[in-house]
Amino acid sequence: MDLNREQVSYGSADQPAALADVMSVDVEDYFQVSAMEGIIDRRDWPSMACRVERNVHEILDLFDRHQAKATFFTLGWIARRYPDLIREIAKRGHEIASHGMQHIRVSSQSPEAFRSDVRESRALLEDISGSVVLGYRAASFSLTPGTDWAHAILAEEGYRYSSSIYPIKHDHYGIPDAPRSAYQPLADRDFLEIPISTMMLGGRRLPCGGGGYFRLLPFAASNWMMERVRAHDAMPLIFYFHPWEIDPDQPRIEGLGAKTRFRHYTNLSRMKMKLERLLQKGRWDRFDSRFAVGKAL
Ligand SMILES: [Zn+2]
Repeated sequence: MDLNREQVSYGSADQPAALADVMSVDVEDYFQVSAMEGIIDRRDWPSMACRVERNVHEILDLFDRHQAKATFFTLGWIARRYPDLIREIAKRGHEIASHGMQHIRVSSQSPEAFRSDVRESRALLEDISGSVVLGYRAASFSLTPGTDWAHAILAEEGYRYSSSIYPIKHDHYGIPDAPRSAYQPLADRDFLEIPISTMMLGGRRLPCGGGGYFRLLPFAASNWMMERVRAHDAMPLIFYFHPWEIDPDQPRIEGLGAKTRFRHYTNLSRMKMKLERLLQKGRWDRFDSRFAVGKAL
C-alpha cells in the first residue's frame, strides 16, 4: 500500500477548519463481532436473539436529542433482516453506508469475493434506503498492507470513500504507519480513505476515535485526547462505536477468552452516559457531508 499519496488538507474558503466532527456507528449485533467468530458460526446467526433493532432506536433518539448526524456502516445481513430499521435511520437524516454483507475480514477474502460482497451490500442498502451509498468500512478495520487492491475495487464499484483503517498498532487490526488524516490512496481516482482518529504523544500514536478504547478509558482521558486532536492537528475527529456497546443486558456468550470477555463486556452500562457527554461537546456530522464526497454526483 502506497501511503505517501496526497494528504487531504482541511480548511479553505468554502470549508473552514472549525466544522463538525464525524460520528459513525457500525451496525452489527453483539454475536457478529470478529472476536466471536471462533465461537459462533455464521450459520447460527439466524437463531440468535437479536438486540440491534432496539439498540439502534436508542441511538437514533440519543442523536436527535443532541442534533447529531452520523454515518451508519451497516451489515447487509442486518439490512436484509430489518429493512424498516434502515429506512428509519435514513429518514432521521443519517447516512447509510456499507459494512459488507457478513462481517468477513477483507484480509480473508479474494479480490473477486470482495468485489461481489461490496457490490451486493451497496445494491441492497440503496434499494432499501432509497439513497445512494458512498461509504464503506471493512470488518474489524481489516484493510491491511496485503489488501492494497481493495481501494481500487471500491472505487470501481461506485464507492467514494472508505473508513477502514485504524492507524495504530493492535493485535487484531491496524496499520501503524498509515496516514493519520484523510488521504487519497488512488492516483487516478477521486477516492478518500478516512482513518479513525489518533493522537500523537511522545512520538507514539494513541487511539482516540472510539471503539473499545472510549468505553474502557475514563471519559476525562478520552476527552483530553480528543481536545488535543482538535486543537493541535487541525482535523476533524473521526469517531465510531457499535450498538451492542450501549446494551448491558445483552446475552452473555459462553466460552470467550479472558481478553475478549474484558474487551467486550467492560463498562457497557457506562457507555450511554459517556456518549451523552461526548455529543454535548461540539457538533457531529456524517462522513458524506463533512468531506463533501457526494458533491460531484
Ligand atoms: Zn464491524
